Amino acid sequence: MATNPPDTASEPGEHVDAVVVGAGLAGLYMLYRLRQLGLAVRAIEAGDDVGGTWYWNRYPGARCDVESMHYSYSFSPELEQEWNWSERYPAQPELLRYIRHVADRFDLRRHVRFGTRVLAVHHDERTRVWRVRTDHGQPVTARFCVLATGCLSVAKAPEIPGIDSFAGPVYHTARWPHDGVDFTGLRVGLVGTGSSGVQSIPVIARQAAELTVFQRTPAYSMPAWNRPLTDAERDRLKAGYRMFRQQQRESGFGVPSPHPPATRSALQVGAEERNRTYQQRWEFGSVTALMSAFTDLAVDEHANDTAAEFVRSKIRQIVRDPVVAEDLCPRYPFGTKRPCLDTDYYATYNRDNVRLVNLRRTPLVAVTARGVRTSSQEYGCDAIVLATGFDAMTGALTAIDIRGRSGRSLREKWAAGPRAYLGLATSGFPNLFMITGPGSPSALSNMIVSIEQHVEWIADCIRWLRERGLSTIEATRSAEDDWVAHVAAVASGTLYPRTDSWYLGANVPGKARVFMPYAGGVGAYRRICDGVAADGYRGFTLTP
Ligand code: FAD
Ligand code: NAP
Repeated sequence: MATNPPDTASEPGEHVDAVVVGAGLAGLYMLYRLRQLGLAVRAIEAGDDVGGTWYWNRYPGARCDVESMHYSYSFSPELEQEWNWSERYPAQPELLRYIRHVADRFDLRRHVRFGTRVLAVHHDERTRVWRVRTDHGQPVTARFCVLATGCLSVAKAPEIPGIDSFAGPVYHTARWPHDGVDFTGLRVGLVGTGSSGVQSIPVIARQAAELTVFQRTPAYSMPAWNRPLTDAERDRLKAGYRMFRQQQRESGFGVPSPHPPATRSALQVGAEERNRTYQQRWEFGSVTALMSAFTDLAVDEHANDTAAEFVRSKIRQIVRDPVVAEDLCPRYPFGTKRPCLDTDYYATYNRDNVRLVNLRRTPLVAVTARGVRTSSQEYGCDAIVLATGFDAMTGALTAIDIRGRSGRSLREKWAAGPRAYLGLATSGFPNLFMITGPGSPSALSNMIVSIEQHVEWIADCIRWLRERGLSTIEATRSAEDDWVAHVAAVASGTLYPRTDSWYLGANVPGKARVFMPYAGGVGAYRRICDGVAADGYRGFTLTP
């Protein structure tokens, strides 16, 4: 039962204890935990079903870059034992089936309003509630508001002149048609070679008559060596799941490494031994294997270049045309954008029907009615695929008109870059929480581990407040300033800020250049958050 906050009972609309925006992995688990506390909860989701990322990103080849049994909820041992993942790296349809199963198994759907976009979230200082306005349906008021809106949920509008004049269909990987796209016999132009491009290019190339890839910045990609899981593998992990989950939580990335911890600099060992190590990691196939091979790949340019050069040597071995191979070789430090895991990515450029256009050499000028024009020629296309990424980390938050104390807008507060305490809360916005917000490990991790940690921290915090009869919690300005400075200091000790990436907002014209995720590691970050809670929510102001 909803407990009507004072003075709202007579207002039109729905009154609940907590509102959760988003029904992806984060929103669903938040809903579950808050309901367990006995709160009346309403979740609001723009999509027509649960799943978030795995609902929207249905492009060919969409797949997880973390192993299935590691990228799954840990909160229910029964769920862990019941569910059988079919592959080492799960594809989007299986991930969506899993999330739907979770929603049904825990009876979560009835709390979610689907097909509804939250437009505004305003704080009412007199009644201490959040008023939530949506694109249709009744408004909602709630004491607590949790934004589970996703780090990568706002597809980036491409700043390509003429895109609307194209005569054929244009598909963004993050808004893929639900009944699929048949490219048979078509000339396809694809813009963007981040993870979404790297995953979709080999699959589209096998179907289309021709595929022209328009590349501005090449990606570092490694083979996933994806394969079906055997019963024995599944059983082995299921038998030790509790200890494995603990290791995940304490690790740097949210995935315990199967390799011994690195103890040496990449520059301390001879070239032969170093390459042998890299080769072993390459053959293992994981996002973190290569980066964790030596102690200093994330912090020392020269050390990093040995790993970068190893991947470049692989590209030159795989791709037959030396000019194409060089065009595919990245020049920025390895790992400063999330590396990709692929199936047959580089080998796809050996196909007769695939062509690579290096936009650094011949920049993209415009999309025309017939295709894509660069500074050198026009490439005829029947369909265009945009794998151009997202307004990441802050895009979904600033898309909502969020107003805190004295009507202050979050968009304005964050105009020069996001400011949040622990990436969980922001001063001036009481009882408002973000899941995997800027300043938390978020995208620098196996995200489900970071999501579970935030959800549990928020649920514990709300329980703690209720037990003490406290009505609001709000980050202090000084704690927030200190945390923002700490996040920046940790990032500046790494190579990450050297590379233009969505971690820095560099992919969105006009966005403030601030390194947004916390690079201190999942385990260290969890200990900090736990310490804050154990100290009676140090850095927060609490109001009776
Ligand atoms: P999301 O899944 O993004 O869900 C947020 C939901 O909020 C969405 O459904 C959205 O519709 C809804 N929403 C947003 N704004 C509003 C609004 N105003 N009103 C109503 N609803 C709203 N992470 C990994 O760790 N490993 C991977 O391999 C991996 N692969 C990925 C592949 C792709 C293609 C993408 C895009 C991301 C990937 N990620 C991966 C990151 C991924 O986003 C997270 O792992 C995780 O799924 C995020 O869950 P979430 O619930 O926080 O956000
Ligand atoms: P992305 O990494 O931001 O890549 C976007 C690509 O589009 C880049 O190559 C970019 O080039 C290019 N681009 C953007 N605008 C362009 C323009 N106007 N003209 C030409 N090229 C343009 O986006 P993403 O591939 O969707 O991946 C985003 C994140 O989602 C990943 O980093 C990862 O965290 C997650 N993801 C994971 C997986 C997975 O493996 N499981 C799959 C997909 C996504 P520039 O680099 O030059 O800007």
